[in-house]
Amino acid sequence: MSSSTMPDELADGYNRFVSKRAEEQQNLYRELGQGQAPHTLVISCADSRVDPATIFGAGPGELFVIRNVANIVPPPSAYGDDPKAPLAGTAAALEFAVDHLRVSRIVVMGHAKCGGVAAALGQAQKEKAERDTGPGQAAGEDQSSPSYISRWVGLMAEDGTETVINNPAMDQDGLQQCLEHQNVRSSLERIQGFPFIRKAMDERGLTLHGAWFSIAAAELFWMQDNGEFLSVEDQG
Ligand SMILES: [Zn+2]
Repeated sequence: MSSSTMPDELADGYNRFVSKRAEEQQNLYRELGQGQAPHTLVISCADSRVDPATIFGAGPGELFVIRNVANIVPPPSAYGDDPKAPLAGTAAALEFAVDHLRVSRIVVMGHAKCGGVAAALGQAQKEKAERDTGPGQAAGEDQSSPSYISRWVGLMAEDGTETVINNPAMDQDGLQQCLEHQNVRSSLERIQGFPFIRKAMDERGLTLHGAWFSIAAAELFWMQDNGEFLSVEDQG
């Protein structure tokens, strides 16, 4: 049963919000009550340490945000042709931000120490180890249905396998970061598979960007044309 008692951690925060709102943001919220016009769609991980509004110093109404495990955008094919079959949450939010709110840009933001990426990497390493030991040596397959997480991060399976195979000498931290970066590039590629995205890019100059946030350094890296990530601070 759900509880009707508001937890202290949330109630205290809300009280701080209300006292701040009363002083500073009353007019802004009154205006936003009429509608929103965010300039940017950010696709970020659900990780509690990676809040787009905090990182970009954005106030209410500025960012439209999609958050899921490991900032993954599934390809259009993941939703199939049957309108009743899949619950296309990420695609629906993409469509709303681009076609209805007409954001100017989309930023896919990955981050360090991503648990979703770690799960995909672990899966890829397990599969490689099983292939290396040869058929018959692998531990018995788990017959239970896969968890929601493993099904979701399964969208990263190909990138995970390539990362493991292409970097045999890399340590675990390096592989993890490599896959975090590749996952941002892949989400950006798959976004372009949606016809309404291509149309917005061609017709009104919607732009796509990649970013990666180092939590420990509280530092943002921006994706360059060659797909590499450079510290925003180094770019002046
Ligand atoms: Zn994450």
